[in-house]
Amino acid sequence: MKVLIVGGGGREHALAWKCAQSSRVDQVFVAPGNAGTALEPKVRNVDIAADDIDALLAFATREDIELSIIGPEGPLVAGIADRFTAAGRACFGPSRAAARLEGSKAFTKDFLERHRIPTASYATFTAKTFDPAYIRTQRLPLVVKADGLAAGKGVLICATHESAIEAAGAMLGGSFGAAGRTVVIEEFLSGEEVSFIVIASDQTVLPLATSQDHKRRDDGDQGPNTGGMGAYSPAPIVTPALHARIMREVIEPTLRGLRADGNPYLGFLYAGLMIAADGTPNVLEFNCRFGDPETQPILMRLQADLVDLCEAALSGALDSVDVRWDPRAALGVVMAAGGYPDSYRKGDPISGFPAAARLPGKVFHAGTRSDARDGGQIVTAGGRVLCAVGLGDSVAAAQAQAYDLVHAIHWNLVQYRRDIGYRAIAYERREPK
Ligand code: AMP
Repeated sequence: MKVLIVGGGGREHALAWKCAQSSRVDQVFVAPGNAGTALEPKVRNVDIAADDIDALLAFATREDIELSIIGPEGPLVAGIADRFTAAGRACFGPSRAAARLEGSKAFTKDFLERHRIPTASYATFTAKTFDPAYIRTQRLPLVVKADGLAAGKGVLICATHESAIEAAGAMLGGSFGAAGRTVVIEEFLSGEEVSFIVIASDQTVLPLATSQDHKRRDDGDQGPNTGGMGAYSPAPIVTPALHARIMREVIEPTLRGLRADGNPYLGFLYAGLMIAADGTPNVLEFNCRFGDPETQPILMRLQADLVDLCEAALSGALDSVDVRWDPRAALGVVMAAGGYPDSYRKGDPISGFPAAARLPGKVFHAGTRSDARDGGQIVTAGGRVLCAVGLGDSVAAAQAQAYDLVHAIHWNLVQYRRDIGYRAIAYERREPK
C-alpha cells in the first residue's frame, strides 16, 4: 500500500520512517518532506506544500493513497480531514470542527468550562468588548493569549497589569493578525508542565508512551519560548496514579464532550497540562496533532506497526490493538540555526552525517534541504534543523547517546541546549529504578 505523510518537519520524518518499517507499505510519500525523508528507504518527497489541500487531495487520488497522516495543525484546522474523507480517502487526523481544540483557545476554554475539565480561570475579549478594568482586578502574573494559531508565539506572561493591558491591546490591534482578533486573559498557574499524547478514535483511547519537552531556548529552561528544543520519553513525573488521573479528569471527559457536541475526535490528541501541587491536571492547551519534538523519541520506542494503529483507529478497532514500547528511554536534542526562534540564516552546509550514521541512535531532519547546485550537499533550511535521538537504559544513558550524535554534526552557528532531560535525570538519581 501507499501512505502519504503531510508536512516537512522532524515529526514528519519520524512518522515517515516509522510507516516505512511496515511490511504492508510499499511506498511512503512526504509532502513536502525534507532532506532526511528523501534519504529514507521506501520514502519519496512530493513537492506540494502542507497547506495546499487541493493539490494534496489530487495527488492522493492519482496515486491511490490508502492512508494519509497529517503532521501539522494548519491543514487540520483548515479541514483537510473532512476533504479527504468526503472524497473517500482515509485520513488520520481530526475534522475541522474537532481541530478547533487547537485552532481557537477561546473555543477550548468555553469547552473545558462547559464540560468541567480543570483549567485556569479566564475571560475572553474582542476589540469591541475589551475592558482594561477587568485586567486591573486580576492577580499577577497574568497570561495573555491570542485566540488563533500563532506558531507557538501567541502566549505572553505579564508581570504587571499595564503590560497585560498593552499585550492584549497589541493583539487586538493586529500584532498577530486574525489570530489575535479575540484574546484570552488567563490566571497564571504554577506547577510542573507535562505533555500527554494519545491516539483517539471517538471514545476509544490509546495513550502513547509518556513524554516531556523543553520549550525554552536556553539551558535551565531559560530564554524565549520555542517550538521545542528537545524531548524525552518516558517522563518519570507521570506516575501510574497521575496517568490514571489525567485519563479520568482530562482525556475521557474531553472525548465525551466532543462526542456530545457532535464532533467526535479521530487522530493524535495532545494535552499540554500544568500539574498543580495537589495533583490536579489543569489543561493549558490542546494540540490536534502529534508533538514536535515529542514524536521523535516516542516513535523510537514504539514496537508496533504505526500504519496498523492508524487504520485500527479509523475503522473503530483501536481497542483490539496490542502496543508494546521499548523499555529503554529515548531522548531527542534539537539542533537549531543560530538566532532561532528569532531570525536565523538558511543555506549553511551541514557536515558530519557519515560519522553520525556510524553511531547508535537516529538523526531526524527538520529544516534541511539538499542543494542540487552543490552535488546534493545538505544545508540548513529552517529554525529547527535536526533532532538527534538516543536510546538507553536510563534517561541519562539516552542523553549521552543523543549528545554523541550532536557532537558528530556541525554547521556555522549551530545552537542546541546542553541539558535536555535534566529534570528526569535528577529524578532518576533520587529514585533509582
Ligand atoms: P500554550 O500555547 O497555551 O500551551 O502556552 C505556551 C506556554 O505558556 C505553556 O507551555 C506554558 O509554559 C505557558 N503557559 C500557558 N498558559 C499558562 C498559564 N495559565 N499559567 C502558566 N503558564 C502558562
